[in-house]
Amino acid sequence: MATAKRIALVTGANKGIGLEIARNLARAGCIVLLGARNVERGKHAVRQLQQTGLSDVHFIEIDVTNQHTITAAAQHIESHYGHLDILLNNAGVNLRGDGLPGAADVNTVQKIFDTNFFGALRVAQTMLPLLRKSPAGRIVNVSSGLGSLTFNTDPSWSGYNTKFIGYNASKTALNMLTVQLAYELRGTKIKVNSANPGYTKTDLNNNQGIQPVEVGAMEATRLALLDDDGPTGQSSSKDGPDPW
Ligand code: NAP
Repeated sequence: MATAKRIALVTGANKGIGLEIARNLARAGCIVLLGARNVERGKHAVRQLQQTGLSDVHFIEIDVTNQHTITAAAQHIESHYGHLDILLNNAGVNLRGDGLPGAADVNTVQKIFDTNFFGALRVAQTMLPLLRKSPAGRIVNVSSGLGSLTFNTDPSWSGYNTKFIGYNASKTALNMLTVQLAYELRGTKIKVNSANPGYTKTDLNNNQGIQPVEVGAMEATRLALLDDDGPTGQSSSKDGPDPW
């Protein structure tokens, strides 16, 4: 189906920052494919947005740890739209059992990596052929200040004492995905960037975050809608570029 509207896929979009990004992209005129691993939660989120007049939001099942669901989603996008303009790798977890390297449960660390890093890698690889067909593809990896090696080693940084080997390292690895994918796609129209939402009130941190989702979703939304002269291969928050 030929359409002038941008096609955007947001993973883990049934709640939190992802739901807010989906709302923003729909408001910006995109056709939003709201990704969720749970059908009921995903469809409920779609209804929430549709009830506010955002009719071009559609549920798509994606568990980023399950390649079959990702492949099926890509086939669905191919047959309905023929291409993908925006991929927002937002799905992420923070699991009990993570901690400092001497104490963290290694199986838990692996599970965190399976979602936060391997999940984004799987989805990016699978969606790449569809993104290559876009006139201006955008990939945004929702990272974290906790993934910055510079911040992790700066005693004056507000998150300096938040040291979870699984979560923080998974976001560092995700940043490497941003760097290497941007390198691989240099010379194409696809831009790849990491977005740091800031400490946002969501279920991920038992709603301890200090800012609302409306603020947490700002930078990822901006990077998803970047003009052709925007950056690639960078990490940034709403306050500007972040150090790696
Ligand atoms: P959240 O409210 O817990 O939302 C996380 C979302 O990811 C949920 O929709 C969850 O689905 C989904 N998800 C988890 N595992 C998945 C999987 N295997 N496949 C598909 N979806 C999956 O947390 P959030 O704060 O909005 O987190 C969104 C992103 O922001 C994450 O990448 C997180 O690391 C990042 N981030 C958050 C903060 C913060 O302060 N909140 C700061 C920096 C970065 P279910 O509902 O099914 O669990």
